[in-house]
Amino acid sequence: MTIRYAVRPADPGAHLFHVTVTVDRPDPQGQRFALPAWNPGSYMIREFARHIGRLTALSAGRKLRVEKLDKHTWRCARTQDEVTLAYEVYAFDLSVRAAYLDTDQALFNGAALFVAPIGREGEDCRVDIFPPGGTRARQWQLVTGLAAARGTRTGGFGTYRARDYEELIDCPVLMGRLVQRRFDVLGTPHEIAVSGPVARLDLARVAADLSRLCEAQVRLFEPRTRRAPFDRYSFLTLAVDEGYGGLEHRNSSALICRRDDLPHTGMKESTEGYRRFLGLASHEYFHAWNVKRIRPKAFVPYDLSRENYTRLLWAFEGFTSYYDDLMLARTGLLTQAQYLDRVGRTMSIVMQRSGRLKQSLAESSFDAWIKYYRQDENAPNSVVSYYQKGALVGLALDLAIRNDSRGRRSLDDVMRWLWRRYCSSGPDYRGVDEDEIEAALAQATGLDLTRSVRAWTEGTRDPDFAALLATVGIKLQRALALESPHFALLGLTLQAAAGECRVAQVFDGGPAQQAGLSAGDVLVALDELRVTPARLDALLARYAPGDTIQALAFRREALQRFELRLSRQPPPRFVLEVDERASAALKRARAGWCGERRGS
Ligand SMILES: [Zn+2]
Repeated sequence: MTIRYAVRPADPGAHLFHVTVTVDRPDPQGQRFALPAWNPGSYMIREFARHIGRLTALSAGRKLRVEKLDKHTWRCARTQDEVTLAYEVYAFDLSVRAAYLDTDQALFNGAALFVAPIGREGEDCRVDIFPPGGTRARQWQLVTGLAAARGTRTGGFGTYRARDYEELIDCPVLMGRLVQRRFDVLGTPHEIAVSGPVARLDLARVAADLSRLCEAQVRLFEPRTRRAPFDRYSFLTLAVDEGYGGLEHRNSSALICRRDDLPHTGMKESTEGYRRFLGLASHEYFHAWNVKRIRPKAFVPYDLSRENYTRLLWAFEGFTSYYDDLMLARTGLLTQAQYLDRVGRTMSIVMQRSGRLKQSLAESSFDAWIKYYRQDENAPNSVVSYYQKGALVGLALDLAIRNDSRGRRSLDDVMRWLWRRYCSSGPDYRGVDEDEIEAALAQATGLDLTRSVRAWTEGTRDPDFAALLATVGIKLQRALALESPHFALLGLTLQAAAGECRVAQVFDGGPAQQAGLSAGDVLVALDELRVTPARLDALLARYAPGDTIQALAFRREALQRFELRLSRQPPPRFVLEVDERASAALKRARAGWCGERRGS
């Protein structure tokens, strides 16, 4: 049995896809169809069904009555004949998480487009993907992780197939005028495709860098066989003016980045933006193992109708965040200094926010649906990021394992242990238990780190970073966070691009909060001088910690007066510095941890 889908970019100007799904031998009680409420990898209820319109059903050439059962479920009237459901999807979400279509390009996730025939989700799927009409679209190409059916050229419009519904929606599709480059990673074909005009894009360089990076990750998980867990892999990239994000899939990832972050021909050095792009690609690729195949039990199978709760996102997202930059350092795509700078920045962000004292990593994972993914102005004071603090816990565990095992074991062994246990995806696949990361640490390293792990993840304790970094010859220094005086001295952030000093966030215990300033207030003057976003920091730099300033601000258009006493102890910024006087043994330990690996 095969479920047949067809998708047409019917009206790109109106951002409308037309989708049909055809089911033979429908449920005699009336075939039901449901659209997911969320997309795996992005832990928020998105209610994709709100973008569905003009839904009709046909059977034996006649219209069939359809009843809506709840917000994302439909039921057709009873029939013994084949049923075809047809509907429109409005696609104007320029992100990697839903669906987007305009006259130049399209990127869609199956979760936003394809309804599942309830009870038939395990059957083969075929999907006919059509190009848009008109002459412009003749230059469109297509990239997807879906397998091309016989008669369809890979990368061409035509028929694609998936083993089941879960695979169908785990293979996003990018269409448009694409720039593409293929590369090989230890015998497995890879490709990168970029949509969106990018001046003088040096895609050969991107492909060469990704090739190194991907090879190092395959070798990390499979040092002996050096085999990737997929037949081919695609990086689907949307280059835009402003934007950043990625979503992992089993044999592809969808990336969105600033076009200025991509390298141009003739560019010799790597830029901060390009390193950020490589870090994003590294992150999503690592997920091909950690979360797509090594999965929390709560995701086996995914229940796409509601939240799926796990307390372990700190391991699946946090460890992945730890390894994304670490793999860049190990392949020489980040210098050691650049890598240490990035660790220091992550540490500063986590340690400057009181949210880490109020929410544990396990709680943050569990509540991702209502907190991390739905942050408001109070987030720094209420939420800890399972990405950022999770990455720091990955770092702390890695250094502790290396030190306690005298360099014989590392977090790499833990990842390999998990991979060996979860690499096969048969019907008895069950996923990682909620307490299994601790067991994996013990089994893979012979060390008992349970107390530390619990304190850092179930509790809110910070690892002793200074002591851990000292084991690899690195000194942890505290500097003043004075590169951003309004943050350091006032304890607030501003809404970017507001054109005025509109307060975005007020940090716990800081001068702004103590003076009574709120998010949304517009600072207009400090000590009788007008302030603008361009002048605020220069003005503040003239004051010393502990000084008092009279401030004027508008709150809902009413002028208010505040007395701001500048922090005496501004929040620290953490700087990781190589200890040049460290012993040869510590230097070796450092090279073993983040040093460039030759020949990999
Ligand atoms: Zn991730």
